[in-house]
Amino acid sequence: MTYNFPRVPPRSSLAIRVLGTYGGSAPGYRMTTFLIDGETALDAGALTESLPLAAQRRIRRVALTHAHFDHFASLPFLVANLAGRESEPLEVAAPAPVLSALRAHVFNDLTWPDFTRLPSAARPTLRFRKISEARPYRAGSVTLMPVPVRHLIPGFGYVVSKPGRAVVFSGDTCPTERIWEVARRTRNLKAIFLEVSFSDTQADVARDSCHMTPRLVAEELAKMPPDVPVYLYHMKPPSLARIRREIAALEEPRLKLLESERSFRF
Ligand SMILES: [Zn+2]
Ligand SMILES: [Zn+2]
Repeated sequence: MTYNFPRVPPRSSLAIRVLGTYGGSAPGYRMTTFLIDGETALDAGALTESLPLAAQRRIRRVALTHAHFDHFASLPFLVANLAGRESEPLEVAAPAPVLSALRAHVFNDLTWPDFTRLPSAARPTLRFRKISEARPYRAGSVTLMPVPVRHLIPGFGYVVSKPGRAVVFSGDTCPTERIWEVARRTRNLKAIFLEVSFSDTQADVARDSCHMTPRLVAEELAKMPPDVPVYLYHMKPPSLARIRREIAALEEPRLKLLESERSFRF
């Protein structure tokens, strides 16, 4: 008699589910959202349309790269779904300027209720947690370290790590330096997730909005540690077809376009 046991991954592996890989919204194009070990979200563009309620309830924390809409659009709805949950509040973790923007413009009792005081101030649904590069965040199974990048508003990439493995997320950025210095120093770096938003034919738009195009990505590669695969995300849906052709024309084997939901285990 044979038993088919489910394959149990090693406890220390780093599981990343790509729930949303785009910098804009249309059917089949979910906005930027990564789920780490099933309980930590990095950005929240599309959590509530990606995950059934039971999986939403397992989320303990959401770390945010910046306060642009395509990165937190589903957060108000996630928080509403979790209201009254019998557990610790959902932690929304980010550097101070990101949290200030959310307090002022989203959870302000005008745009959306202030769930840091609901259902009661003593047992709120939501708790903000300020983090910084100098104060990395031990988030359940992983450590999250925000690193400033260059964007229109204060924006941060993240180093997500656990013993023996790490990955880097760029966040929204145009050509930048600091996060690549950190990446070059990071041991056991398994992957880099880098934004590319616009086509090279939209270089002006990309420069004015501080985003990457394939040509800029190719230049940025020289700053990264060698031999680490680079997964590209945050394509604007109307630009996707051109971006795909331009990336293919680079013939750079390290670059892979993240075009759909995917799960990684590092
Ligand atoms: Zn964005
Ligand atoms: Zn942005």
